[in-house]
Amino acid sequence: MTADIIDGKAFAAGVRARIADQVAQLKAEQGITPGLAVVLVGEDPASEVYVAHKHKATVEVGMASFEHKLPADTPEEELFALIDKLNADPKVHGILCQFPVPEQLDERRTVARIDPAKDVDGLSVTNAGRLSTGLDALVSCTPLGCLMLLRDRLGKLEGLEAVVIGRSNLFGKPMAQLLLRDNCTVTIAHSRTKDLAEVCRRADILVAAVGRAEMVKGDWVKPGGTVIDVGITRVPHPDKPGKTKLLGDVDFESASDVAGAITPVPGGVGPMTIACLLANTLTACCRIHGLPESEGLTA
Ligand code: NAP
Repeated sequence: MTADIIDGKAFAAGVRARIADQVAQLKAEQGITPGLAVVLVGEDPASEVYVAHKHKATVEVGMASFEHKLPADTPEEELFALIDKLNADPKVHGILCQFPVPEQLDERRTVARIDPAKDVDGLSVTNAGRLSTGLDALVSCTPLGCLMLLRDRLGKLEGLEAVVIGRSNLFGKPMAQLLLRDNCTVTIAHSRTKDLAEVCRRADILVAAVGRAEMVKGDWVKPGGTVIDVGITRVPHPDKPGKTKLLGDVDFESASDVAGAITPVPGGVGPMTIACLLANTLTACCRIHGLPESEGLTA
């Protein structure tokens, strides 16, 4: 193995520590406590775990955390009444509805109900449009986290060839927009891309967000390139019966012989997502109050 391992866990801990400092300063100097409201509809066990992690991380940086758990059969009007209340609540600067939602609810309509100024998941049409037209936006957390890792590793990204595999609204499209903003030459690849390996081989920055375990092989990677592995697939553990393990979209063993730097799975991109949720909540709070934003925590 020749590649440097990009330690997302350590980097995310640093980001959280910086956020905690900023929150303490906001409280001391302005008397403002940034607040994040998380809405969970139903009892999906994986969602319950995510929401618990978000609550813990929010409290750890000194922010206020407001959890709202609604029954699985909650009608849309009731969910929207809660979102309207949170939109109007001055103690709440970020609102996140944990997806997936039960089938009587619609994710797009739910996101659209959240005030774009508090849409800390960056999923609204307003924030996507603001990002792509070069305005200040709240940016989807995982791509924002990848951008931070890339800037930390590479400094200025200007002029680099970037290939993003995946074109989802949650990840691929905002990732491509962020790289374009940083003056990369960006290619977005997807399931209909021809000669994907060939396209990937020209990437100084290769970002894989597909959800197909170990799809990207070492000979798809440009020698010395930086590889960001976003994909997560849970598979049976080869050595521990009854246990599972996580695999990324990149075949770590072969890719790390060729790349200059690579994120592992787990411990690479994953920890950046919650760190960036907190970063977005702080950014939203500063913007709502007309205060300067913290450097390095936004796109
Ligand atoms: P998604 O909505 O399912 O999108 C997957 C994308 O991959 C689509 O654009 C699809 O192309 C493309 N694709 C599928 N098969 C392909 C192939 N054989 N060759 C090239 N492209 C292919 O998924 P997502 O929400 O973007 O997430 C992608 C992965 O990232 C998942 O594993 C997810 O768990 C992970 N993820 C991780 C985090 C984190 O915090 N670490 C956050 C978000 C997502 P088409 O558009 O043509 O169908």
